[in-house]
Amino acid sequence: MTERQVRVRFAPSPTGPLHIGGVRTALYNYLFARRNGGKMVFRIEDTDSRRFVPGAEEYIIESFKWLGIKFDEGVSYGGEHGLYRQSERRDIYKKYVDVLLNGGKAYIAFDTPEELDEKRKEIANFQYDAHTRMQMRNSLTLSKETTTRLIEEGQQYVVRFKVEPGEEIHVDDMIRGDVCVKSDIIDDKVLYKSADELPTYHLANIVDDHLMEISHVIRGEEWLPSAPLHVLLYRAFGWEETMPRFAHLPLLLKPEGKGKLSKRDGDRLGFPVFPLEWHDAKTGEVSAGYRETGYFPEAVLNFLALLGWNPGTEQEIFTLDELVKAFDITKCSKSGAKFDYQKGIWFNHEYILKKSDTEIAKLFAPIVANNGVDTSMERVTQVVHMMKDRVNFVHELWSLCSFFFIAPTEYDQKTVKKRWKDYSARQMAELSKVLRDIDDFSIEGQESVVMKWVEANDYKLGDVMNAFRLALVGIGKGPGMFDISSFLGKEETLKRLHAAIEALG
Ligand code: GLU
Repeated sequence: MTERQVRVRFAPSPTGPLHIGGVRTALYNYLFARRNGGKMVFRIEDTDSRRFVPGAEEYIIESFKWLGIKFDEGVSYGGEHGLYRQSERRDIYKKYVDVLLNGGKAYIAFDTPEELDEKRKEIANFQYDAHTRMQMRNSLTLSKETTTRLIEEGQQYVVRFKVEPGEEIHVDDMIRGDVCVKSDIIDDKVLYKSADELPTYHLANIVDDHLMEISHVIRGEEWLPSAPLHVLLYRAFGWEETMPRFAHLPLLLKPEGKGKLSKRDGDRLGFPVFPLEWHDAKTGEVSAGYRETGYFPEAVLNFLALLGWNPGTEQEIFTLDELVKAFDITKCSKSGAKFDYQKGIWFNHEYILKKSDTEIAKLFAPIVANNGVDTSMERVTQVVHMMKDRVNFVHELWSLCSFFFIAPTEYDQKTVKKRWKDYSARQMAELSKVLRDIDDFSIEGQESVVMKWVEANDYKLGDVMNAFRLALVGIGKGPGMFDISSFLGKEETLKRLHAAIEALG
């Protein structure tokens, strides 16, 4: 038998913003497809019209654009497997519903919500299945004529899948191995509703996976309970031969470890759970996004890749291509992965270091300009070079670096108390004379001359440098003093020294 072409899909329902767990699912599908020379399909599962949220589909597409994950086929990508939005595939599903009905694998049920409620009251743990279906109002208990008449009269109905009891269903999961379930616990699932003439998730999902020739279904653990039913559906259609292989990914857990990660955890601890900012049209609520918070898409992907999978080595920083090479779906863990958002911040920091100064400067330059500073790219790059190892996000640079571009107008009181001694003004006045006479104002050029002057006068180096820093920066922290003064240049350095002497006396 020839190896089957690997085809995977990411099939979100547009019910709101894409959750970060969904991003990980898409990423694992992407890595698996690329790793195996396969294709990845983007399908929109929008058959539940009550849960449809306008803008969600566009949001999902934009998220993947930002992340740099490209699909080969699907909504907004096109392709040869028909339309990729389920709401546009009604006729296809209707045909397959009829296949099941005609084959006796499904039946029509007329029970109203009230009637179902009655049954639930009557029978403890009521489930619509082999044990109860013969007590209900459906095409198995009603005559053919009655059934036809009710449909013709316009009575609402659903089509239910006929699950036979007493069977063991095996799901072959690439991560979890053989998952075995008794068919008795599965109810006769609704596959189609006449009310909106739309299939439910289960039917549309199976039909599309089949028609789109999906070879592997990689999705979140929350879908594992549906898998046995899906296996039964493949069988009912006679599609066992081409049934996809499953992989159910481990849950993403709260940072503390217990329970599923939710949006509330993000709000509570201050981290985004969505790739992009999301504006809820109904409530007006705005939820933070990784993009707007200042994360690099590469850092987000790198972080997510290691939540539930690890390469078995110490390596943590991976490009997308390196991930493709290293990724092995069978090495995913079965147990949930703690969402260690601090680690996500660490990744962003690592990517700041990894990127060139020029690249970071390009991102920082607009921030500098927005703060009213007119300067060159070269100077922004110099500052980035000195300071980028101190931040996790590019936007954090401004508050740390503004003194390079704007002279202090105030001096931090605490630092003044501690560091500006009675003799500081006199020493700084002397220092300014020493500096004025230096021709080579480079770091080394200043250093040797200033050190000689400090020694000759028996000054305490710490005292001098602390006062010098306060004068140039306005606070007690920052990079090396001569890095600062050489960046500022002689004129600006002397100006700031004199201003400080004036202000602090
Ligand atoms: N539409 C489902 C979702 O929203 C797809 C689940 C699956 O991958 O089968 O995640």
